[in-house]
Amino acid sequence: MGISVYIKKSSFIVILCLHFSYATCNIPSNLKGFLSNNITMTSTHSNDMIRNKDNLKGLCLYEVQFKEAIYNWKLLLVINPQLPKDAFWFLPHDNENTAFDAALYATQKYGGGFLSVVSQDKRLHQNQDPNRNFSSSQTKEISCKAQKYASNLYTKIIFTIIETYKKESYPFLALHSNENSWRGAGGKGSVSILHSSKYVHSYPAYKNVSSSSTGLKDEDSLIYIAGLSKTPDLKILKSLLSKGIHVKYEIVNQMNNDCSMSNYVVLHKSHSSYYNIEVEHGALKTQKIMIDKLMTHIQEISSY
Ligand SMILES: [Zn+2]
Repeated sequence: MGISVYIKKSSFIVILCLHFSYATCNIPSNLKGFLSNNITMTSTHSNDMIRNKDNLKGLCLYEVQFKEAIYNWKLLLVINPQLPKDAFWFLPHDNENTAFDAALYATQKYGGGFLSVVSQDKRLHQNQDPNRNFSSSQTKEISCKAQKYASNLYTKIIFTIIETYKKESYPFLALHSNENSWRGAGGKGSVSILHSSKYVHSYPAYKNVSSSSTGLKDEDSLIYIAGLSKTPDLKILKSLLSKGIHVKYEIVNQMNNDCSMSNYVVLHKSHSSYYNIEVEHGALKTQKIMIDKLMTHIQEISSY
């Protein structure tokens, strides 16, 4: 394995490129402008990387670092050099190991890659939820209760990276894994197809889903989509349901914006769509099946 370090003074980001044998790991010219000499290597080798040492072979790994407000952000960028511009996934929560392992499966199988927040295996990064931190405003968004400081740099850097590697016609993609809803934090079960709220509507793919259902039928196995309208795009909804995937649809507007990625995409990238695959922690096999089904869905939708 070789190590290349690219350095440029007076800027925000460090990108450290670790390339395993055979992989040619170039940094696109628009990302070179983000490089800086502010490099720390201390936790480059996160537990996610150690656990997946073999699965990372042949892929390009980049470390992204920058500071904003009180935060020292660190992210891991993984790219398939055989097909770098394809499906691209965002993983905001470092405690969600299943999502990380599934992202590697997707990157090896379909090309593209993923960007994963590194937070010492914790959901929060210095007490900030990375998935409540998307805003291009210079001040904190009033509606975003879980956003502590303005986050325009965070947002700009993450979307610049995503849009560098995401195939233009493709949607924005995210992967998460969560507690079993039945036993989950506070028993709230908010990430469950069995629960709906005023702005998040559930569309189960099966009859008689219960807390003991498993696999694709599990209440925790679902895809989030989001939009401005009161009901989801019927073509998209029918396509996902016909593949046996539960769908949750989030209605987004400026007043209920929570600074999550889905809300940011809907409010600022309205020409594109968003899909987030959620499973219970440990349900790697199910998440891989859902990735395959979503990739088929994306191909079908783009050919309509
Ligand atoms: Zn998550």
